[in-house]
Amino acid sequence: MYITEIFLKDYRNIFELRLDLSDGINIFLGRNAQGKTNILEAIYFSSVLRARTSRIQELVRRGGAQAFLKINFSRADVSQDLSIEIPAEKRSRKLFLNGSMARSKEFIGRLNSVMFSPEDLFMLKSAPLKRRQFLDGEISQASPSYYEMLTTYNRIVYQRNRLLKQIRERSARRGNLEMWNEQLARYATQILLYRLIAVDRLNEVAQEIHKKISARNEKLLIEYKLNKVALDIPTDNLRSDAFKKDLFFWYKKNLHARIENDIARGTTSFGPHLDDLNFFVDEMELKTYGSQGQLRTAALSLKLSELELLRTAAGEYPVLLLDDVMSELDAARREQLLTFLKLKKIQTIITATERKYFPEQNFGRIFFVNAGKVFLME
Ligand code: ATP
Ligand code: MG
Repeated sequence: MYITEIFLKDYRNIFELRLDLSDGINIFLGRNAQGKTNILEAIYFSSVLRARTSRIQELVRRGGAQAFLKINFSRADVSQDLSIEIPAEKRSRKLFLNGSMARSKEFIGRLNSVMFSPEDLFMLKSAPLKRRQFLDGEISQASPSYYEMLTTYNRIVYQRNRLLKQIRERSARRGNLEMWNEQLARYATQILLYRLIAVDRLNEVAQEIHKKISARNEKLLIEYKLNKVALDIPTDNLRSDAFKKDLFFWYKKNLHARIENDIARGTTSFGPHLDDLNFFVDEMELKTYGSQGQLRTAALSLKLSELELLRTAAGEYPVLLLDDVMSELDAARREQLLTFLKLKKIQTIITATERKYFPEQNFGRIFFVNAGKVFLME
C-alpha cells in the first residue's frame, strides 16, 4: 500500500500543500517547529482517526475556518482516495471515501499505517497500560472484531465494579454477581486467546527483525504477563477447543476465589484489563536492565513487527511513518534500517533535522520543510 499524493489545507501550520510522494523512501528535513511532524500526523490521522491532540479542532490552522485533508493512495493496485473535513467551530468532522460520505468504522483501516515516534520509546518503561495499548492497537488494526470484543469486555468490568460497590453497601445481592462473572470469564477468555496468539506471532517476527537491527545479534523475547495468578494449564495448543474451555473455567475459578477481596475493594482485581507484557533482551529484563540504546532498538523492532503483522492481515505492507528516530539510532543501526526498508519496498516517510543521518547516494525523495511550506530538494 502506498500514498501517491497528499493535499492539506488549513491543517496545523500549513496553509496549503500538495505533495507527490515516492513509493519508496521520502525524507522531510527541516529545523524544529517547521511542520515535519504535522505532515506525518495528517497521514496517521487519516489512517486511524487519532492524533496527538485530544481535541481534533486543534488540527485546524489557527485563523482557518476548516481543515481539509485528502490522500490518494494505492491499495491492492487500486487507486483510492480519502478525505476529511474538520470545521474550526463545530465539534465534528466529515469523512469521505472515494468521494462518498463514510462512517468512522468504514474509514479506519482503509489506509494502513504504522507510526513510530520518540514517545514510543517510553512504552517499554512506563505503566502497563501503554504496553496493553500497544498490543491491543496492533490486534485491532488487523482484526476489527477484537476491538469490539475489548469494548464489550471493558463495559462488563465497569458494570461488575458498580455491582461490587452496591453489594459492599448492601444495596444489591451477591447472587447478581454470578451473571457478570460468567460474562467476564467468557470475554476474558476470548481476549486472552487473541493476545496469546498475537504475542506468539510477534515473538517470531520481532526476534528475527531485532537480530538484524541490533548491534550484537541480541535475542528479544516478549512474554505475556498475567496479572496475579500464573496459568496452570498447558499452552501448547492455543487454538484448541479444549484450551478455550479450560481457560474459561480457570477465569471463573479465579474470579470466585477473589470475590471477598473484590467486594471489599469494590473493583475487579483479576482479568486481562490488568495484564502486562515483559520484554527481555538476552534474558535480561529491558525495563530494569536495558540501556537507552537497547530500549530504542527494541521499540523499533516492535514497530517493524507490527508492520509485518499488518502485512499478513492486509496482504501488503502499510505505510511506515518514522518521526525523528534517525537521531536516536547510531550510524550502523540507521544503515541497517534503511537497507531493510528498501529491500522490503516499504513506503516510508521519515522526518529529521539533518541531512547527515542519510547516506549520500540517492535512494528516495528529499523534501525541505520550512514554516509549513515544503520544497522538493532531490
Ligand atoms: P520538531 O523538529 O521540533 O519536531 P516539527 O517540524 O516536527 O519540529 P511540528 O510539530 O510539525 O514541528 O510543527 C509545529 C508547529 O506547528 C509549531 O510551530 C506549532 O505552533 C504549529 N502549530 C501546531 N498546531 C497549529 C495550529 N492549529 N495552527 C497553526 N499552527 C500550529
Ligand atoms: Mg517533530
